[in-house]
Amino acid sequence: MTSAASLVLDPAELSKIADPESVGTDIYKKVIKDLNRIRGSNQNIRYAYILRKTEDSNNLAFVADADSLDPTAIFDLNGDGIINDSDALNTPGDIYDITDLDYLRTTAFLEPVVDPELTQDQWGTFLSAYAPIRGASGTATEFLGLDIDVSDYARIKNLALIPYAFFVAFLLLILVTQTVTLVRIWGNRVDELQLIDRQKDEVLGIVAHQLAKPITAIRWDLESLLDGDLGALNAEQKTEAETMKAQAIGLADLVSMILDVSRVQLGRIQLDPKPLNLNDLFKEMLDVIKPTIAEKNINFVKKMPESLPTVLLDKRYTRMTIENLLTNAVKYTPAGGTVTLDLKIENDVMSCQVTDTGCGIPQDDQAKIFGKMYRASNVVNTVDGNGFGLYVAKGAVEGQGGTIGFESTEGKGTTFFFTLPMKKPDAIGHNEGKMV
Ligand code: ADP
Repeated sequence: MTSAASLVLDPAELSKIADPESVGTDIYKKVIKDLNRIRGSNQNIRYAYILRKTEDSNNLAFVADADSLDPTAIFDLNGDGIINDSDALNTPGDIYDITDLDYLRTTAFLEPVVDPELTQDQWGTFLSAYAPIRGASGTATEFLGLDIDVSDYARIKNLALIPYAFFVAFLLLILVTQTVTLVRIWGNRVDELQLIDRQKDEVLGIVAHQLAKPITAIRWDLESLLDGDLGALNAEQKTEAETMKAQAIGLADLVSMILDVSRVQLGRIQLDPKPLNLNDLFKEMLDVIKPTIAEKNINFVKKMPESLPTVLLDKRYTRMTIENLLTNAVKYTPAGGTVTLDLKIENDVMSCQVTDTGCGIPQDDQAKIFGKMYRASNVVNTVDGNGFGLYVAKGAVEGQGGTIGFESTEGKGTTFFFTLPMKKPDAIGHNEGKMV
């Protein structure tokens, strides 16, 4: 194409076609004829035209095109069905903006180039190709542009693509069907697993409930034995009975914890808010953990009002929550560490915070720590536990309209905190304390 462009078109002649004044001159007519001959050489060439460099590298100037041969020719150039001024043919010197067409700025003046994309308009699909028109010095300031009609090629290519398109659509259909089926199967499976999990919790609840009765009976029998109701016991028998009683109490606590786990899981926590003297409650709880605190030489710091009110709360769940946080703090803190209980009662809300200097909870375990039976990796094989306590505590606090959370750094310590909204005991007969 380079040679064709340079052989047919003479740069010396082209240089004389600079502005609209050139139209109709002999040189202009000759160049148009040359362009028309080029277009006539191949019926697929739709347009043949020449563009020239300007001082502004983002603009090219129109020189001539094959259709300019007949200055009176009537074309509906914009294809709107109306022939008016907007269909005017280009005249020499008209500007083409090529800001976004790098290859026309440089390459088209050095070697033949082709538009990277086909152009589609109302007349069909075409490919534009350009070839430099070199002067005697070998350099080019104009290039020849040819728009080649490739509508047939595009149509055939599209036709050839139809079977592939059908195949891809078929594959997509299979894929969608499979996905929908899998989602359904998976959904059913999840439903089944949830049902099984629920049934398991129901069974767990029933078993725990059945175990609770005989364990309580054993406990009472042991107490009556220790009280000497069946005759005086010697020292050895007394020690054995004490050990059995301690184990029966541990078993009873475990069974009642399992019952609570199944209640939380099934959403069946039954709260029984009654007037609760917080002074008594805290004394009872601190008495329970006192021996372990002493045994581990824990520095126990208590920050709470001197006198606490009597409020309406469920005693069992409130005690279980606070006791769990306190026993955990003592359990997961090494001997000689510090545990701080910080209790505030303001605006009918109890805010409790238990801080320790213990082993902490690893970052990776923190999101799951309130989960059923979840135990952190740093204690699971070294400290006894079952992972029920926090699960029930969360259920109990949230069941009473409160919030619970924690902050922890592994190796440094942990702070658990919760809030519980409280009501004043009703005026009829339950005024053992007052709200602070
Ligand atoms: P348990 O203590 O019987 O394992 P919990 O439900 O009370 O069960 O606690 C769940 C887990 O949370 C514990 O196993 C432990 O990994 C972590 N944890 C709770 N409290 C503390 C604490 N104060 N310090 C460090 N880890 C704790």
